[in-house]
Amino acid sequence: MEYRDYLRLVPKIELHCHIVSTIRPKRLLGWAAERGVALPADTAEALFDYDDIVDFLAVFNAAHEVFRTREDFATLAYEGVADAVADGNLCYREYFVNPDNFSHLGLGYTDVVDGLIDGLRRAEDEFGVGFGLVPAINRSMGIDVAMALVESMAANPRPEVLGLGQDDLRADGQESPLDWAEPFRRAQELGVRLTAHVGELPSSNAASVVESWDALGLDRVDHGYHVADDGARVAEARERGIPFTCTPRSTQFLSGWALDAEHPIAAMIRAGLRVTLATDDQVFFRTTLREEFEHVGLGMGFGPDVIDGIVLDSIEATWLPEERKRALRADFRRQLRALRGALDSTPSSTGTGS
Ligand SMILES: [Zn+2]
Repeated sequence: MEYRDYLRLVPKIELHCHIVSTIRPKRLLGWAAERGVALPADTAEALFDYDDIVDFLAVFNAAHEVFRTREDFATLAYEGVADAVADGNLCYREYFVNPDNFSHLGLGYTDVVDGLIDGLRRAEDEFGVGFGLVPAINRSMGIDVAMALVESMAANPRPEVLGLGQDDLRADGQESPLDWAEPFRRAQELGVRLTAHVGELPSSNAASVVESWDALGLDRVDHGYHVADDGARVAEARERGIPFTCTPRSTQFLSGWALDAEHPIAAMIRAGLRVTLATDDQVFFRTTLREEFEHVGLGMGFGPDVIDGIVLDSIEATWLPEERKRALRADFRRQLRALRGALDSTPSSTGTGS
């Protein structure tokens, strides 16, 4: 087995996936045509070929306009899992969803969340891929909308809803993690877990990553790359055991970083931080979880020992109860052992080093 095949077949967990971004391009274009929604282009090639972030956001926002019913969310969710299993052996995924992005279409919190649960449950029955949902505060929408989102979570408890996140950017283009302390405190009262997009933009810094972790009581950090700018902050992050959900391809697109050994994610891995890999907005960034593993295993040059470590660390970074983590650990170790046997018995493979 070649190393590329190994990277494709290792069992995968994804913890930073905005669920609308798992839509099939054909489905998006089909629903848009059927429902009279104008997209910026009418072929997948043209649609996902951006000049800049403004172009990207126009397509990303337009994609939300094609949804009409609860069943649409079920279709989206089911197809997204089926495709990720075929592409790269997805085994478990926690999804961000911004229910507020659909409210102007007459779709409420329960339409969105229950529709997604329908589709993800169907996919779990068929493929054994578990899931959790993480409603996210859209930071461009203001504090009242954020508080109302948490109250919707309180009024409609679902065991599949595991936590609260915050994404997008404040209207002035800043990350602003600490602006959302009040809804995060309220979510903590509900007993859900917490994560935030922080340390992604050039305007952020290493301190903001660790300060947000401490001030908001986070359980994970999404992105967090700028922690690598400051050795003292890296040491603090390691001490706290912060799990990071890193998305290589999106950094190439948004920050212009080459996906090689100098990449901040490579530095985070070498520094012993708990890195997990994810796609962020996969269809919009023209990536898949398999390709993200290729960026780390081939582009950044890490061998199978590091990849196995990422795969197993990802189990610990999920918000699953301990008994489900235990089952995943055994399942993943079995799969990794079988795959390593195939890799090591192939003379031409590059399966050495760490
Ligand atoms: Zn994201």
